[in-house]
Amino acid sequence: MSESDRRCSRPLCSADAEVLLAFDYETRHVVLCWVEDAHDPNFLELCVQHADRFRPPHGWTFDDVRAQIVDLRSVAASTRSVAASMVLG
Ligand SMILES: [Zn+2]
Repeated sequence: MSESDRRCSRPLCSADAEVLLAFDYETRHVVLCWVEDAHDPNFLELCVQHADRFRPPHGWTFDDVRAQIVDLRSVAASTRSVAASMVLG
């Protein structure tokens, strides 16, 4: 993981990108979480200061899940495993 080339997306800001903003355009929902190893061009990466000032566009909702340990890539998998455990009892 090379954090040194992960910079805040805001112009004129050279702080390290530490927060990931994932935009779901279908549900108009934004999730804020800590930056992960994997880089996805669909995600906006901001420093902590800019992330704290972030407000979603009008009509959008957002969740700040930085207090939780969240791996976006595993959300679908965990949802499936919960469903599977319910089915299996
Ligand atoms: Zn910044």
